[in-house]
Amino acid sequence: MSDYIGRFAPSPTGQLHFGSLVSALASYIDAKAHQGQWLVRMENLDPPREEPGAIDKILRSLEAHQLYWDQAVLYQSQRLDAYAAALEQLSPWIYPCDCPRHRITALKGRYDGHCRQQIPAATATTALRLKTDTLSDEQQERIEHFDDLILGPQHKPLSLSGDFILRRKDTLFAYQLAVAIDDHAQQVSHVVRGYDLLDSTSRQRYILARLGLPLPAYGHTPLALGEDGHKLSKQTKAAPIDNRQAAHNLIQALGFLGHPPPLDELADQRCTTLLTWARQHWQRSRVPTQAAVAPSLQPE
Ligand code: GLU
Ligand code: ZN
Repeated sequence: MSDYIGRFAPSPTGQLHFGSLVSALASYIDAKAHQGQWLVRMENLDPPREEPGAIDKILRSLEAHQLYWDQAVLYQSQRLDAYAAALEQLSPWIYPCDCPRHRITALKGRYDGHCRQQIPAATATTALRLKTDTLSDEQQERIEHFDDLILGPQHKPLSLSGDFILRRKDTLFAYQLAVAIDDHAQQVSHVVRGYDLLDSTSRQRYILARLGLPLPAYGHTPLALGEDGHKLSKQTKAAPIDNRQAAHNLIQALGFLGHPPPLDELADQRCTTLLTWARQHWQRSRVPTQAAVAPSLQPE
């Protein structure tokens, strides 16, 4: 048995589309190629954004592609006590922020520390931010630099986002906090996920380091784009994948990940055969580092 634990962590805001299948598959194969376990975590922290039935549809889709998880699915909605405990531990470095939305929007994603100086009274509905410059210089450096498993050396300064939110104004826990806490709780050693989350990595590493917890390795897979050049996403209603042509979807997704299966050499083209071939031939260095337009999923 290896110590490798990987995971796929979808938000149930819609069904799986080609882009999310690519992330699921990459994290699954990277884990299996290293004799690891592969976990599924439902990031259902934000009820208003969720789509009824999506959790079940995502799980059925994974099963249809023979992507089976090795432990019970973890639901973030059942982890609120753990997030509250982490928030409590981080309290020396947290401050309330009551900046109005228009102020935040004008800052374009980089918070300027405004409420550090003029600390507003914390109420039950004030957002809470984490100071991002409280580690030693050496530790800050170590957080901001990491060797991506797929993209190679990265430098993502925390100053790009500035102090970030751990608990939102609407009292929901923020994605960054929940992911960091759960990756640790599930003993995840390798986080393999889509490129759109690359910029979140330093924040998650910072939370873990601030809590004195070990850091997993991170790898980011290329984004699948629509014909319009925009990222496929559940919010923009990217077409759900069709479970009835699961093997075809896997062939396309493997090709997208730089591992087109040699179909004439395989005994059959069933999902299990394709996945076995993939885990035997998987090389991170073959995964493209650039986004690309998703292939058409219509069978030829
Ligand atoms: N739940 C996040 C999403 O669906 C992914 C979280 C992660 O992989 O770190 O975009
Ligand atoms: Zn503020």
